[in-house]
Amino acid sequence: MRIEWEDVSDDPLACPQCGRVHPSARMVRLSYGAVVSSYSEAYRRYCEANTVLKRFRSKRTRMQYLAAVANRRGEQAAAELRAEMLRVWQHKEEKKR
Ligand SMILES: [Zn+2]
Repeated sequence: MRIEWEDVSDDPLACPQCGRVHPSARMVRLSYGAVVSSYSEAYRRYCEANTVLKRFRSKRTRMQYLAAVANRRGEQAAAELRAEMLRVWQHKEEKKR
């Protein structure tokens, strides 16, 4: 019998949805140095921040995206995504110098 998942919910790799550790879960280093689980909300938000920064090139269109997030997911979610976008962007700027 093959065991697909380990049922250890306090594991940092645990999936926030089902509490198990999926076989594909791994720790990932983000561009600005933090290390998080590939199944974490932090990683999901990091990926969204990168996608938004790549897809929307002007401040105006980025703010439009954040406004839509605030509408659908609430002000808190929009503020957290905005902070993450700033972290990613600032780190990229620092590397240029
Ligand atoms: Zn899961």
